Amino acid sequence: MRDPLVIGSTSVEAGQRGRADVPVMTLLNGSELSLSIHAIHGREDGPTICLLSTLHGGEWFSIEALRRVTSLLDPDALRGTVLVVPVANPLAFGLGTRDTPGNSDSPDMNRSFGGRHTWSSDQLADAVTTHAINRSDCLLDFHMGPWGSAFQDILIGGDFPEPAAEESERLALAFGSPVIRRADIVKGFPGPRSSIGYAGGVRGIPAMGIEIGGAGFSPKLEEAWWNATVDGILAVLGAMSMIDDPPDPRPARQLIYRTSHRVNPRHGGLLRSRFGGDQLGATVAAGTLLGEVLSPYSNEVIEELRAPAEGLLFYVARDYPVEPGGWAYGLASVADGARWIERNGSEGVR
Ligand SMILES: [Zn+2]
Repeated sequence: MRDPLVIGSTSVEAGQRGRADVPVMTLLNGSELSLSIHAIHGREDGPTICLLSTLHGGEWFSIEALRRVTSLLDPDALRGTVLVVPVANPLAFGLGTRDTPGNSDSPDMNRSFGGRHTWSSDQLADAVTTHAINRSDCLLDFHMGPWGSAFQDILIGGDFPEPAAEESERLALAFGSPVIRRADIVKGFPGPRSSIGYAGGVRGIPAMGIEIGGAGFSPKLEEAWWNATVDGILAVLGAMSMIDDPPDPRPARQLIYRTSHRVNPRHGGLLRSRFGGDQLGATVAAGTLLGEVLSPYSNEVIEELRAPAEGLLFYVARDYPVEPGGWAYGLASVADGARWIERNGSEGVR
């Protein structure tokens, strides 16, 4: 029989599920801030995987998918352990902001891993690291845009030490995302102090940043994105031999790319979008008009957003107010070393 899993003062027996509330810090208002961690502790031995959501407070769309995974996994049939942190940054989530509130040098929790400071972001990242990431063999960290923008992308580190880089790619393909960005995560963006930069680059475990869907679209689309996320997680568990008979959500072919083009507005206004949530994954030609920014004051078009190169849309937005630099469109380059992986495993360069 496997040993019980101990998280803080909570113990979960093999073949059981449980939830730990790990104390993190006392706030100035006197309340205690804790981190909620769900554990599905399989009856049989196997790897441990960490599912993380809402490091950025405005990126809560994935909480629902993780709730479904948490409730449907059967600890009796699971080999290994699944740790789920649905709200990694309750301070930012409580305000609906991307960043952690407070006068801090670490407003962005996803640049606070491995920190030595006591800012709120650093302490939350430390708690996630100690109780979840450091006892895991794989990290899936879920992000997406704020309300009104939707994503379809997975980010993995080509500069992770082997075998973490190759294993990240294998698991990202199993997840079924049509679009996967393999780039320098540790040396480049989002860096070694991001969750996946830390997990992949410092700890050397497979790690991916997963962005599927977003809030503010039709119920049918949002349901499809939750289903894709649940199936993707189950497929990864299958690829790690943690469950039997996983779904196979892989499309006919998947793009692994290096270069992305962000097409975000320079000016604030009302975005009138030509490519909404149902256009995720569409290929557009260079010069295609993706959307326009209208002044809500004069009603004039003040900016046109056009594709700078041919690419696959990996994020899009609905009509909504945008700030300068706000999320509008992202294109995955189909040039510059991009590879297509066919469902049968064969590989082609376009
Ligand atoms: Zn994020």
